[in-house]
Amino acid sequence: MYPGILYLDGEQSTCPDRMQSRQAIAGDEKKLFCFRCGNNIPHLFAKTFSGILYCRNCLMMKRVEKSACLHYLEAKEDDRIFFTRPLKWAGKLSVAQRKGSDAVVSAVERLEPLLLWAVAGSGKTEMTFRGLEVAFEHGMRVCFASPRVDVCIELLPRFQEVFPDVPLVCLYGDSEGRFQGEQFVIATTHQLIRFYHYFDVIFIDEVDAFPYAKDPFLEYAVRKAKTENGTEIYITATPEKAWQDECMKGIRQHVKIPARYHGHKLPVPEAVWIGDWAKRLKKKQICKKVLNWIQKQRQNDKPILLFFPKIEVMYEVKEVLEQAGYLKIETVHSADKERKEKVERFRARETSILLSTTILERGVTFTDVQVAVFGSEGVVFTEAALVQIAGRAGRKATHPTGEVTFFSLWSNTGNETRY
Ligand SMILES: [Zn+2]
Repeated sequence: MYPGILYLDGEQSTCPDRMQSRQAIAGDEKKLFCFRCGNNIPHLFAKTFSGILYCRNCLMMKRVEKSACLHYLEAKEDDRIFFTRPLKWAGKLSVAQRKGSDAVVSAVERLEPLLLWAVAGSGKTEMTFRGLEVAFEHGMRVCFASPRVDVCIELLPRFQEVFPDVPLVCLYGDSEGRFQGEQFVIATTHQLIRFYHYFDVIFIDEVDAFPYAKDPFLEYAVRKAKTENGTEIYITATPEKAWQDECMKGIRQHVKIPARYHGHKLPVPEAVWIGDWAKRLKKKQICKKVLNWIQKQRQNDKPILLFFPKIEVMYEVKEVLEQAGYLKIETVHSADKERKEKVERFRARETSILLSTTILERGVTFTDVQVAVFGSEGVVFTEAALVQIAGRAGRKATHPTGEVTFFSLWSNTGNETRY
């Protein structure tokens, strides 16, 4: 058993003296409470065929039943390891990034909460490096949590590279890594529910400009996973309204890292649920919401850049759009020999809709282009890719805004891809 994590019955190999246990689900049937995930919503509990009550909300982390216990060891002060200058990074921060970095360092030193309000693509990971170093120098235990698995997977090698000596594990639904008392944990926000009184600092990368709505139980999970004096640092491009108000009133500690070079913010993508689009495409149909969006842009004479997870999907959608009367359409992908010419024709407005794989996600600028992703849940659309795609809109100072829409198989409330 390792301190700081909750074990289910049978998961603890030995029973050390210090082991403590508590009931997983408390209360009676009218007022249930799952200690592990914080669920207290009646319809998020269910019964098995044999009548055993369990929590549906954290089912993906193995079922907890009413009679189950959670076992844990309290993390001890003398388990801490103190590192000397663990950060091995030769990179340089921009002036704006330094402002963010200094605020993170100060929050870590004082164990005070912080909102790092940073526009997507502003280099937020680099802004955490110095704060992490200070934390490890003080022997603190740190978690970096993101709602998205792909973000965690991308972060692992980056943090391993800059903190080569700090034991680090990356935890997500089917991760190879298993928690073995590491001082530094990268985890999906879902994994936080397994921890108890362990972290001194929890970074929460909300990625909330993207099709992943805020987890209603996240606050509980963070509170439970941190130590009594621990703190949390939220990193987000678009804080919720209440938080923005608190920042304005000066009651929420925050640092705001501004905008892109022309002073306007990155367009905030809108997530639109379109259901099982693959099934529809088989019948040569696409969701009305997509067609309406295209129609709206074309009525305003805006060029459209539409991204796809796969080449075949792109061709199928092209066919449907042509049937719907859109004729000035072209497709590009990495092996397309005419790619350059097609991009030029789109830039010259000879074509009005350009369909693309992720090949055009970076490096291209089109004036006043409106951007959408079809099937944004696809694995190719990592956070980094979606940030780049969103960045295609509003690049020109003359047209600094633009719509960005992510059409997705999942609805915002779906947890399917999030643990
Ligand atoms: Zn639960």
